[in-house]
Parts: sequence; C-alpha cells; structure tokens
Amino acid sequence: MQQVRTTCAYCGVGCGVVATAGAGRSVTIAGDGDHPANRGRLCSKGTHLGETVGLEGRLLHPEVAGKRTTWDKAIRHVARGFARAIADHGPDSVAFYVSGQLLTEDYYVANKLMKGFIGSANIDTNSRLCMSSAVAAHNRAFGEDVVPCTYEDLDEADLIVLVGSNTAWCHPVVYQRIVAARATRGTKVVVIDPRRTETCADADLHLALRPGSDVALMNGLLAHCRKAGLVDEVWCDAHLSVPGDFWAGLEGATLPETARQCDLAEADLAQFYALFAASPRSVTLFSQGINQSVRGTDQGNAIINLHLATGRIGKPGTGPFSITGQPNAMGGREVGGLATTLAAHRDFAEVNRTEVQRFWASPRIAGGPGLKAVDLFRQMREGRIKALWIMATNPAVSMPDAALVREALARCPLVVVSDCIAETDTSRQAQVKLPALAWGEKDGTVTNSDRTISRQRGFLAAPGEARPDWWIVGEVAKAMGWAEHFTYDSAAAIFREHARLSTYRNAGKRLFDIGHLAAISNADYDALEPQRWGGRPFADGRFPAPDGKARLIPVEQRVLDYAPLERWPLTLNTGRYRDQWHTMTRTGLSPRLSQHRREPQVDMHPADAAALDLADGVLARVATPQGESVFRVALNDGQRRGEIFTPIHWTDRQSSGGRTGLLPCGMVDPHSGQPAFKQTPARIEAL
Ligand code: SF4
Repeated sequence: MQQVRTTCAYCGVGCGVVATAGAGRSVTIAGDGDHPANRGRLCSKGTHLGETVGLEGRLLHPEVAGKRTTWDKAIRHVARGFARAIADHGPDSVAFYVSGQLLTEDYYVANKLMKGFIGSANIDTNSRLCMSSAVAAHNRAFGEDVVPCTYEDLDEADLIVLVGSNTAWCHPVVYQRIVAARATRGTKVVVIDPRRTETCADADLHLALRPGSDVALMNGLLAHCRKAGLVDEVWCDAHLSVPGDFWAGLEGATLPETARQCDLAEADLAQFYALFAASPRSVTLFSQGINQSVRGTDQGNAIINLHLATGRIGKPGTGPFSITGQPNAMGGREVGGLATTLAAHRDFAEVNRTEVQRFWASPRIAGGPGLKAVDLFRQMREGRIKALWIMATNPAVSMPDAALVREALARCPLVVVSDCIAETDTSRQAQVKLPALAWGEKDGTVTNSDRTISRQRGFLAAPGEARPDWWIVGEVAKAMGWAEHFTYDSAAAIFREHARLSTYRNAGKRLFDIGHLAAISNADYDALEPQRWGGRPFADGRFPAPDGKARLIPVEQRVLDYAPLERWPLTLNTGRYRDQWHTMTRTGLSPRLSQHRREPQVDMHPADAAALDLADGVLARVATPQGESVFRVALNDGQRRGEIFTPIHWTDRQSSGGRTGLLPCGMVDPHSGQPAFKQTPARIEAL
C-alpha cells in the first residue's frame, strides 16, 4: 500500500495528512505527526477526506456548449474567445476569477498570464471574500502583507483572544492546540463574538459584543493600556510612525463609553482589560467576524494597533494573528492572486511593474489594480466583461448577492469553468467546462495561515482527461501566442520560477523571499518538508515600510450604515458548520460529515422566536433587502436578541431552500473590497 504525506484540502490551518491508497480509489487518512501545523491531529473534515475522492460527479472530459470535445479544440476555443474580446474591447474586458483552493503553482501561472501577457489585473480570487481586509490592514500597518505569528505562539502565549472566530468549528486543529495549551500551562482564553459558539465552551470569558463594535472594543482596550503604563513610549518612538492626533482620538474611549458602544457589562470589560494587562504574552487571533465587514480593514488595524503600541509583536507568544479560511489563501497572496497586488508581495508601483515585466520578459504589464470580486461581477452584469474564466470556485453560490452573479454570468458572452466537479451552480452557466485534477491527484504547494509552505502530493491516478490547472492555463497561454513563456513541464518548474521572482531585486525590501528554493531540484521538491518563510517577523523592531517603521492607523467606531431598520428588525450573521466546507461539493460526498447537520437552519434566540410565534423546528422565511430563502428554525439561547445566524453551504443542488448566498447585500469594505457577510438587516416570518 502506498503511503503519501500531503496536506489537507480544506482550511487554512494546513494540517499534514498521511494518505494510504488501497485498492481502487480507497484511501485511509491519518494525521501527519511530523507536520508542524498539526503534529498528528486532524478534525472531522480532514479525517474523512478518504470518503470524498470517488469519481461520482467528476468532470472528466472537456466540454464546449454542452458537448464533449478534445482538449485541443477546447483550448483553441478558449484562446480564440479571450483573444477576440481583447482585440475588440481591450485587455480589461476579460477576467479570471480564481480560488484559494488552487495550488500556488496554478495561481502563479494564472496571475502571470493575466497581468503579464494579457496586460490586465482583472484576476481576483474567492480569497477576497475571506481575508482581504486582513491583507489591507497588514499593508497599512507594516508596509507588507505579513502575518507576524506562528502556531507555536499559541503554545507560548499566556492569553489568547479569539475575535470573530468560531475556532472550534472553523479551525478545529488550532482550537485543539489552544485547548492543549490551556490544559498544560493554564493559558487564559477570551472569546469576543456576538454569538456564544462552541469555542466559548472552554473560555475564561466570553464577550458577546454588539455586532460591528470591535473597533470600539479594541480602542477602549488600547486607551486602558496607555493609562495603565503598558505603552512603551520610547519603543513607540523608535519603531512606530504615530499620527499626531492618534492618542487624542482615543480620549473618549473610557470603560463606560466602550461598554455602552459594545453593549457589554462594564465588569466583563474590566475583566478582559485586566487579563490583557496581566499577560504580556498575548495573541489576538482574528478571522471572518473581523474581515467580512464593511469595517473589516479598520477592525484589523484596531487589533494591530493594540499589539504594536504595547510592543506585543515580534516576540514569542505575542502578536495579531489573522487566520485564513482557505487551504491556500496565503499562497495566492504570495503570487499576486488578488487584483490589488502584482506578484511576490509587490504592489503596482512603477518600479515593481518594470521589474516584474523584465523578470517575466512579458510584452506588457497591468497598469494598476484590477476589479475586485464584487466589482467584477457588477461590471459583468453591465456588459463590460466579455470573457470570464472561473477556476475551482462556485461564485453563483458563494458571492454575496448571488442573484446578481447569475445575471452577470448570463450576460457574459464567454464563461469558462475549470473544475473537478461536473455540475455546479456556476458551471451550469458556462459554455466551456475544463476538467481539472482534484485533491489527491494534483501536485504542488500550499501556504497555510502561519506562512508554512507544504507540499500537496498526488497519490491517485488522474481520472478521465483531467489535467492540472497550471497545465490548462499554460496551454491556453500557448494558444494565445506566448508559447515560449509557458513551457513548464512540472509543478516544480513553476515553483522554481516563483521562488526566483520572490528574491529578484528584493535585497531585504520584502519579507516574502524564498530565494533559497529557487534552484530546488525536482527530487528535492518532491521531498520538500514543510517550511515557513519570514522567520520571526519584526523581531528586530524593523518593519518593511520604507522608513522601517510600522504605522498606527487611527480608526474610529462608526455606526453601521445599515443598522437595523423598522422593516428589518433583525441582523443576519452567516458562517460555517463544523463538518461542511464552502458549497459542499466535496464534504457533501461524505455520509459521516452529513450526520452533523442534515439541513440548513436559522439559529435565533428563543425570546425572539416566541415574539414572532415561531417554534423550534418550523420552517420560516428569512428575508433581507437583497433576497429571501427558507430555513428550519433552531432555538439557540447563544444568539444575542435581535440576531439570527444561517450557514453558507447549501445550494440549489442540495436543497430548495437554505440558500444564504441570496441574502447578503454585497456591501464591501472601502479599503479591501471584502464583502460584508456578518451584519445584514433581515426579518423572519412563518411560512
Ligand atoms: Fe483540514 Fe483544517 Fe481540519 Fe486541519 S483543521 S484537518 S486543515 S479542515
């Protein structure tokens, strides 16, 4: 039996797994005891990966206009369609919408084709929906998108603050690590979340704050720290750039005022402040509750300000720790998979454009940032995008305002989908379907939330005519006339080029530099052990900004633009279930994972339900200004009054109701363009 060490297909924890392939496509999965992300631990999703590698529902052959065709014809069709749109309407009339499920090598080639050869930056990723506010916050504060923490910091902290994160369900192995630290060294845990989730079960304190009041909370804590003498002014002068009015902006952030804004008891807030003050080793881990908001970037900066000003960064057991949702959101950030970055952590400054174009020897280079995900589909609905290629994602379900996305796809003259799944809500609207390899078949690297690059290794034969994503993109690039620039014969060859670009004219300007891997042999790439880039960022108090200083960013708590109105008396929050992943194309195949929650529910406080005459288990319609869908009511006294929660996973394919994607409004953070999924005005009514 063949045993292969690879990396889990799901979340940004990036656990190492040992896959043992048996007869047929049977696979058993165990945790990899040598992988630093999990040291043998796995969660339910990772454990049951073996149940998801069957060929049921797989896309196995290229299709054009619903008919099977050859690779050659499909590639030429796509290349012609894109070339025609570019010739008639310019490079910005085409776009790629890609995915944190892609491997770094896939991402690299797609980004190179779009930004360097087509000459547009219209490539964005579903990671826009996941962590782009954290990226914007890092760039604003540090001058580069760098996560300063590692998982070991969770082992060494005295206090872990979990903000907007149901870690127990969404990053379960990180949660197991926190629970272990708590048991062995008495680490204190504070959960800041409007909902009382499973993550609160083992916490010292849960602050069920008013949704969207995180800036007030963090500013209040920072003001308290300064008053308590925890802000080292000498260190701040040496290492931080502090706007003149920064501290004045916090003068009103008293304990009573902060408690009022956050709708918290003063005693609870004081307890949190005291815990933070007493714990120089503290990590603040944040996730979608922070990022998926119209204030996501400001909220991230409020957390980072706190750690910078108190010097709790760059040392063991400290730091602001943005944890990503997807398996390779970080790899995508490294290669420039976002419309707002170029490649290798570079922005679109003239010097970067010139250098990257020279490195790629490309005929052109994108002039500036492209369309972010929400804008991309809006522009498409207006008829401005003439050709779109969607890779490994299902935006007809996962984007906010899903109805608009469907209209946009219907108006786009050429929609290409490359995916391993034959029928998704998105691929139903595609003229071209290209079969891609799936987890267990494809080969490459991913980078997890703590900057650790790990190999995903294939151990199953490629089914049908499925091919690696990087191969598909490369063949289209060749057919568009750029053959000599896309001659890759393996994922290893792409990785070497990516590593060379990271170090090209870098000379310490950016922390992301994996130049030591630029000449890695194919054999060494095959055997590559997990390795983290960046060491311990900021340990020397230097930051990647031109002046070497980090920036404190003044951020203000603001009233939400769409605070609940009379017609919409409730606030809808959305998120994941423990045992499902995104739109369930993979986890939906596992009978055991489906046991946990068989159908989508709307969680609501019993008192709210009683006021509306809704009983536990009845069907009810959830409506927002954007749309409506039907869910089964689940009474849950862990919900705040006035707030309801629905899961993101269900689609038209699995159920006639329970479609959360129809409900969020598509409002975005002004800095990152990340859509708000956490605070949508809503109402609920009996059917
Ligand atoms: Fe996979 Fe995430 Fe679970 Fe680890 S925690 S096994 S990466 S889903």
